[in-house]
Amino acid sequence: MSIFHDEVEIEDFEYDEDTEIYHYPCPCGDRFEITREQLESGEDVATCPSCSLMVRVIYDIEKFVKMETMNVSQVTASV
Ligand SMILES: [Zn+2]
Repeated sequence: MSIFHDEVEIEDFEYDEDTEIYHYPCPCGDRFEITREQLESGEDVATCPSCSLMVRVIYDIEKFVKMETMNVSQVTASV
């Protein structure tokens, strides 16, 4: 049912630390967006709010969660 514009590796997304959203340029001029929370829960579809195109995000969830765990321990260490 869903039509994907493309498949994009997470490395090609830009991460906004303030909003915790990964984004990638959309051909319409806006950006595909997916939140870190969505990725952590296994969601792999980034959507563009302007034109409703979608891309599938290629990422290794195990690697991703491991990375998050590392960030959490860094935060704990600094407190
Ligand atoms: Zn778009």
